[in-house]
This record gives sequence, structure tokens and C-alpha cells, in this order.
Amino acid sequence: MWGRAINNEPRIAVKSDPMVFSAPHDRTLLVSRRTVLPDGDGLVIEPASILMEGGYIQAVWPLDLEGSGVDALAVRAGARLIDLGDRLVTPAFVNAHTHLALSALRAAELESATAGNMVERFFFLVEAAMEPADVRAFARLGALESMLHGVGLVWDHYYEGTAVADALMDTGLCGVVAPTLQDERGPRCEGWDVALAETEALATDSRRIARGIFASVGPHATDTVSASLWQRAVEVANRVQIPIHSHLAQSIEEVRRVYERYHCSPTEWLARLGVLEAAPQGLWAHALYASRSDLSLLRQNGHNALVYCPYSQLVFGFPARVSEWRSARVPWVVATDCAASNDSMNLQKELRFVEGQRTVGTVFTPAYERFLETGRLEDAELVWQRREAFHRTGAGGNHDKVGDRCQDVLSRVWQRPGVLHPQFTVGAIVPGALANLLVWDTDHPSFWPGHAPFRTLSMGDTTLAIYAMYIMGREIGVPGDFHRSLIRSEIYRDTVGEASERLGRLLEKYSM
Ligand SMILES: [Zn+2]
Repeated sequence: MWGRAINNEPRIAVKSDPMVFSAPHDRTLLVSRRTVLPDGDGLVIEPASILMEGGYIQAVWPLDLEGSGVDALAVRAGARLIDLGDRLVTPAFVNAHTHLALSALRAAELESATAGNMVERFFFLVEAAMEPADVRAFARLGALESMLHGVGLVWDHYYEGTAVADALMDTGLCGVVAPTLQDERGPRCEGWDVALAETEALATDSRRIARGIFASVGPHATDTVSASLWQRAVEVANRVQIPIHSHLAQSIEEVRRVYERYHCSPTEWLARLGVLEAAPQGLWAHALYASRSDLSLLRQNGHNALVYCPYSQLVFGFPARVSEWRSARVPWVVATDCAASNDSMNLQKELRFVEGQRTVGTVFTPAYERFLETGRLEDAELVWQRREAFHRTGAGGNHDKVGDRCQDVLSRVWQRPGVLHPQFTVGAIVPGALANLLVWDTDHPSFWPGHAPFRTLSMGDTTLAIYAMYIMGREIGVPGDFHRSLIRSEIYRDTVGEASERLGRLLEKYSM
């Protein structure tokens, strides 16, 4: 299994087909009595059959339970039949902002780093020492962790973008790869032209596109990228018609530097440069320091969406106030960021915090401060009034019905991030979308009794209830034994050995 021990070569003999896939079946008809389908702005659960071919959903038909049966339907469609009974079928999750390779720095010594700018004081040093083969091995583990949590497509932003794309090919995860560009500070500053050329090559690589690997242009942030590099990034995004994916207003250092240099906020600076209205789509992670005026700039200028990564933001900064994003009518989606800052690539867990934003502010209000001092009933009543006010304007929207709010939250990891790239659709069970699907066992203790799937999926912890997964129409692992089959796959066992060895060497180098 192990190849030459040269540092820059991947050690595992990567096969042409990812090892976590079962053999390809070209034309498959999935049938379930409970399929999550779009219904206007919302979702419904109905009996349906899904025809998958060539990695895409070719057709979705309502299931006529009175009719001639699913076998006849499959024969008519000329497809292999998978009858899932009443197991719930949903889109696989879409994680709109990741750094897969940074899984290697999970639980690293962040205590001292979090005292200041974590990105600069810690990540940049270790990242500078990573070689392409390190990135590929680490990203493979990040990809496998993502798949174990039901994520079928990631928007990844990292150095050595080709190595990230290779890791996606190795594992079978779909992704939009943004090779990180920066020319003012940070690792690989000298190599921005290489990263930009890499971006264009990835964007036009038909072999990778056929495997669900796309590209976006990835400037790092407003304090690490010069005006001229932003302009080059825009030029490539427009010429190749791919989105720009970047961090924005994520740290106080970024805000300070932009104010010192350009006398305006990071968002205003991008608006002045024409970046916000130029690309076919902008995807901006964090925006912790986006004022109401910045939010209105993001809304007015073309196609821009913000990315909320609550658990990562809790650690490296503070969680953004997404109810403001909603009031400003700026589109936004939910993502994990990296395991180095939140210790997990489980996208589902982020959703609970979106709903939790309805109430969490209560304990930081003057009303609560007063209650702490007095302990009086009337002050406790005022605290509850404050909580109710937060609840009405929460991040999940003003939907009267809880079910609608849950659908809204799920849309941030399904259909909304699924339409951000001009080259594909994902995150919805519709013809033409990438065939990325999850099948859930709603009798699993984490999902049972399964009466309100949208609420359970948005508030629960159900990834252990994944019965099967399809990425580009192909079965990942073994249905009914999904998690164990991935953990026992050759690629997992080989990768964990290689990645551990590489990480050991890297940390040795870093501590010297
Ligand atoms: Zn990030």
C-alpha cells in the first residue's frame, strides 16, 4: 500500500475510484415514501422516486402508491432500483466555508493564541511549513469527517488548492476549491500568482468538474490582499465566471489596518474597489465587524452572501449578530469554518446556535445586570420581557410556526448555499442538481420518533442516524453500516497513518 517515502509525494497509492465508494451504477432509481422536496419557498415530505445518472438528478417523479409498483417504474426508467421504504431522504448538507486541512490543528495549543489574533500568531506559522502532500493528507481526513457528518459538498479555502482538490478526488467529496491568495502578509505571499494560475486551471479542469470539484477565487481577507491583487481576483472571477470566496471583517486587526490605510471599513473599501458588484457571486465569511451601513452595501451591490460559522466565531472572535443580516436582507448561509477553531466538521451542530441566537443575548442586557444586583421579582419579569423581544426578532426569522423556522434554518445548509455557484445546483432534490443525498433512519434513538423531521434535523444531533449517503449518485460506504464502513475503508486507515506522521514532523519543525 505504501509508496515511496518522499516528502512531497502522497504515500497512499490513490486509486482512480475513491475507496469509500461502492462500484458505480450508472442509472439508479431511488424510491422513498418520505422524500424532502421543494414546495414554493419551503419544503414538503412526500413519496417520490429520484432518477440519478451521471452524477446528477435527472428526474423526480411523485410516487403513485396505487399504481403498478416501483419495480415496473424502474423497468420503465431502465434503472437499477433502490427501494428505501419509508426511510427519510433529504439533500446532503452543503458546508459553505471550510479549511479541511486545518483538521490537523484540532485541539492544538490555542490558549495563548486565542489571547490575540489566532490566525496570525498561530496558523500562519504552521501553515507556512506545510507542503502540498501534507495539505493533501490532512484535507483527506477533513473530507472523511465531513462525509461522516452528512456533508456532500464543501466550499474550501486553502493554500495548495490543487492538493485540496486531489484530496477531494481521493475521498469522493464534492467541493468548490479556492486556492488562498494573499500578497501583503501571511504564508505564501510570494506565490499569489501561482495560486491565481492554479485557480484558473481548477476552474477549467473538466476531469475534476465531472467529479463535482469546482473552483472559486479565494482572496484571504482585506488586510492581507492589496488593491491590485483584489482587482486581479475580480478579473479572473469575471472572465472564468466563478464566485469570489473570502473572509471579510473577521478580526479587529483587519478593521484597524483598513481604517489606518484607507480610512474606511473593510466592506466600504471593497465597495470602492468595485469588488462587491463585480464577480458573479461573492461569498464572505464572518463579517463580525459589518455595520448596518456595510450590510446595506453588501445588499445593494450585486450578488453577495455572508457566511455564519457560529462555533468557530465563538472561539476566534464572537458570534455575528445574524438577525441584523436578516433585517438588512443580505442572503446568508451557515458553515463550520475549520476544526482548528471549533474542533468539529459537524455542520448540523451549528444549526442549534442559529436558533439559540433568539435567546442568548438576554443574559448580557442591562435588565439582566440589574436582576443580578437586586434579585427582585420585578427585575426577573423585565429579564423575561427582554428575552421575549429577542425571541421575536431571532435569527431564524419571524415565522409563526416552529416548523417554518426549522425549514428556514435548514435552508442555510441546503438550498441557499446550493445555488451560489453558476456551474451547478445542489442542496435540493430537483432535476439538474448534483445527486448528493442522505437517507436517514428515523427509528435511530437520536431521531426517534421522527414525527417532525425538520425540527429534529435542525435542533437535534442526528448524524449517527445516517443510513446511507449518495454523492454524485454513488453510494458512499455500505447502506445500513454507513459510519463503520467509512471508518474501516482503506483510504481512512492509510490516511490516518500518513497524516499522523506528517503532522508529527510538522509540529516538530514548528516548535524548533
Ligand atoms: Zn475561514
